[in-house]
Amino acid sequence: MNQSSQPTSSDSPANPSADDDDVVVVDDLHKSFGQLQVLRGINTRVRRGEVVCVIGPSGSGKSTLLRCVNMLERPTSGRITVHSEEVTDPDCDIDEVRRGVGMVFQSFNLFPHLTAMENCTIAQKSVLKRSDAEARRIAQLNLEKVGLGERGDSHPAKLSGGQQQRVAIARALSMDPGLMLFDEPTSALDPELVGDVLSVMRRLASEGMTMMVVTHEMAFARDVADRVLFMDGGVVVEEGPPSEVIGDPKHERTRTFLQRVL
Ligand code: ADP
Ligand code: MG
Repeated sequence: MNQSSQPTSSDSPANPSADDDDVVVVDDLHKSFGQLQVLRGINTRVRRGEVVCVIGPSGSGKSTLLRCVNMLERPTSGRITVHSEEVTDPDCDIDEVRRGVGMVFQSFNLFPHLTAMENCTIAQKSVLKRSDAEARRIAQLNLEKVGLGERGDSHPAKLSGGQQQRVAIARALSMDPGLMLFDEPTSALDPELVGDVLSVMRRLASEGMTMMVVTHEMAFARDVADRVLFMDGGVVVEEGPPSEVIGDPKHERTRTFLQRVL
């Protein structure tokens, strides 16, 4: 898609056009649900290989931001580019863009009647048209990567919450995404199961995966994020390296939030 021919790109003040190293560019994003203004002018970008953690109080718009990046919500206004495709362009082939984006939610959303292996192969076969053998080979590699190489035959009900979430990560990775979106992936887990999921995410980050992670795990954000966004009331209040946003926040709202969660 030729970005320069889009009428909206000439009058976007906050972010210049995406270059090849930009995986996500969010430009003056607004989103309302009826009268409720949930996102009120978000500007940010995620570069290739970057891990960006999004923190902030409940209701601040974190999930909505992530869902707009993946077009699970349609923005009210603004522009979002993912992998150099303007997903807010009505002509954009959104299914094509989504193919390159893995999403992991708080609830694991595995198919209960399918095994872990089958959960990881079904979209590879239906969407990417991979053969069963090829899909199983790739799924096995990703199940091993999340520490579940021996559990491919298990149904979700036979797995712990943490194991189910790791299957969900393996399923997303099996689609060869260039970007992974995580929305509070450990929030639904019993505390003793959180660590294994975070370890998998740490490893992904160290292997260079581009990631946007909504999380309340401040230790994870501090250690793994290249950049932290603190959101409150539908805006990014503060953004920077974790040493600044978490270690030495400039804004009172950030300090108040961190005092509550740390
Ligand atoms: P966070 O993830 O930071 O907790 P959300 O993005 O989920 O925040 O929600 C922000 C606000 O938008 C909340 O007030 C929420 O109730 C509202 N909201 C989210 N999704 C919808 C929706 N589909 N319809 C109406 N209101 C919504
Ligand atoms: Mg949320």
